[in-house]
Amino acid sequence: MSRVLIVGAGLTGSLCACLLRRELQNKVQIVVWDKARGAGGRMTTTRPPDSSCSSADLGAQYVTATAAYSQSHHSFYSELLSSGVLQPVDSLIEGLKQKDGNKDYMTPLGMCSLVKHFLSESGADLFFERHVTGLFRRGASWEVQRKAGDSETFDAVVLTMPVPQILQLQGDVGNMLSAPQRQQLDEVMYSSRFAVALFFPPGAVFSFPWAARYVTGNPCICYIAADSRKRNADVPDRGPSLVVHTSVPFGLAHLEKDKEDVQPIILQELQKLLPDLPEPTSVKCQKWRYSQVLTSVPDCPGQMTVNERPLLVCGGDAFSHSNFDGCVESALSMLSVLKASL
Ligand SMILES: Cc1cc2nc3c(=O)[nH]c(=O)nc-3n(C[C@H](O)[C@H](O)[C@H](O)COP(=O)(O)OP(=O)(O)OC[C@H]3O[C@@H](n4cnc5c(N)ncnc54)[C@H](O)[C@@H]3O)c2cc1C
Repeated sequence: MSRVLIVGAGLTGSLCACLLRRELQNKVQIVVWDKARGAGGRMTTTRPPDSSCSSADLGAQYVTATAAYSQSHHSFYSELLSSGVLQPVDSLIEGLKQKDGNKDYMTPLGMCSLVKHFLSESGADLFFERHVTGLFRRGASWEVQRKAGDSETFDAVVLTMPVPQILQLQGDVGNMLSAPQRQQLDEVMYSSRFAVALFFPPGAVFSFPWAARYVTGNPCICYIAADSRKRNADVPDRGPSLVVHTSVPFGLAHLEKDKEDVQPIILQELQKLLPDLPEPTSVKCQKWRYSQVLTSVPDCPGQMTVNERPLLVCGGDAFSHSNFDGCVESALSMLSVLKASL
């Protein structure tokens, strides 16, 4: 039985694990490692400080399916809709650009429930706080080194982290990339931004009517969501949550600052935009150094095979598009490569 390591428990890694299990069933042992403490990656849902508050989506906000992807990825959408993971957006989102044929969906339990759905379907051996630092070729296998100092051996490795983090790995990855591959990866670019989640006590009321709003003309804030309202998750015994995303220029200008220093600037701007906002019980700030992909790998191949035997394949939104359907495309391309190799 082949042992496959998938690095990253974001949407691409989780979906890849799930599709691999469905295709190859018990012919493969699937192991997923993530350096974080939980699943989700950039589709993270942050837990509130206590159970009297609602959770909040700090990264991706909702899923928008174009008419073409609604058709080509129909099986994924119908699986997620029938299991209740996705629901059509039915609340007011001010400033959302509607395109003909597009459908918007939200996740009642938060965006990370999408990722968790596919992880639980995968039956993979899942480990958090496993930070991969290097990959070394050992004959027909990969020795994968962890930050903790130890290593394990696998027959095939799938990397789904943002491209700059792939390029930082020690060992043989850098040497195995061909010159055109290296150039394609070097040219991948991401936007950067900050996100802030505010958690309110039970009984706190927002005076505005919208569930989310795109803010124009503000140098700092570009998006605000009454997160629990957006997900139809407001319940009387739990306080609501609010999420703020900064603009990309603001993110870039403050990228090297500590998030503790940037949080007060964002909160001050928020106060100007929403002066009636109640007092939060707690606040959490996240710096997204790699937020959405601005320049992806040319022609969006979905994956890049760095080595065929032992297999090393890279995927993620940088190899397609920076959204749900982009991750599906990438996972499907990596599945083809894995099936052919295993
Ligand atoms: C602020 C923001 C808003 C967004 N809004 C939307 C939206 O509304 N709709 C939408 O569809 N998309 C949105 N996106 C984009 C979407 O979130 C991404 O396209 C998608 O989540 C990428 O998934 P992924 O699995 O490819 O990568 P990731 O989610 O980044 O997963 C990679 C995983 O690898 C792990 N990792 C990294 N390095 C290592 C290592 N060395 N060892 C072990 N593990 C490691 C990370 O912890 C992470 O969990 C948004 C993203 C951000 C940041």
